[in-house]
Amino acid sequence: MYRIGIDVGGTGIKVGILDDSMKILAEDSIPTCITIPFSEQIERIAACAVSVAESVGLTREHIEHVGVGIPGIANLASGDVIKCTNMGWNHVPFRTEFQKHIHAPVMIDNDANVAALAESVAGVSAGTASSVFITIGTGIGSGIIVNGKIWNGFHGIGGELGHVIFDLDGIPCTCGNHGCLERYCSATALIRMAREAVAVNTDSMIMQMVSNDITKIEARTVIDAARAEDPVASDVYARYIRQLGQAFANIVNLIDPEVIVIGGGVSKAGDFLLDPLRREYSKYVLYNDQPLPEIKLAVLGSEAGIIGAAMLS
Ligand SMILES: [Zn+2]
Repeated sequence: MYRIGIDVGGTGIKVGILDDSMKILAEDSIPTCITIPFSEQIERIAACAVSVAESVGLTREHIEHVGVGIPGIANLASGDVIKCTNMGWNHVPFRTEFQKHIHAPVMIDNDANVAALAESVAGVSAGTASSVFITIGTGIGSGIIVNGKIWNGFHGIGGELGHVIFDLDGIPCTCGNHGCLERYCSATALIRMAREAVAVNTDSMIMQMVSNDITKIEARTVIDAARAEDPVASDVYARYIRQLGQAFANIVNLIDPEVIVIGGGVSKAGDFLLDPLRREYSKYVLYNDQPLPEIKLAVLGSEAGIIGAAMLS
């Protein structure tokens, strides 16, 4: 059986064709375009899927299954996208529209859920029945796998760790609430904390690294400066790890999965992230004298979106 996996993102849409063993045979991408009508957006995605199939000598008739990961939520039964802010989609009939071009079952789910599924079947958490996947980038995405299946919540709105309230009167969030976990644990949060710190500690190495232009501070800048033992960066990073540790402890206190998998840009820090995080998070776990979940880095990288989408059933 040949499957199409589609990873819808705010800047680009990646499309891959996979075989039964979930091997990507070919892939391509198109830039995201939200200024054209929804029906045309879907037509472009379907056309990309057909051209990817043709690139390996297949036709649209060979496509037997289509999976889609979106940065939003979908109605799994109807195949409608309920909300996908980046794409400007609000209650749109994705499956119905897509099937006008390719006659195959179309399954849709949240992109972090899809990446969680991919890692739990073919990635670092393969062989486990329960895992939580967290992507730490501009925001915080999360996916929960229970008994080998995505746990979306009863109403399909769960698994949003990024918007668990962390600080009642905290920083305003893009979602409209205040103090969401995402505002303290994302790459964006690390950058904000660094900007605040260097504003009063202008002699920090961070400032040299960005030629005194704080708008150029990236998560990597802070991590590299902390690695080089710059005191300001080390301080910011330690506080960031503490916040992340509390977030991880919340996951354990609530779900206690076998493994917690970290993906996204910040995960590129590798052991410099894992080592202090492992030490820090257990402090906040209630039953921390018991065996605790392993924390591991995602291994499928940017292909997790395509692979996990193709696995949706
Ligand atoms: Zn929020």
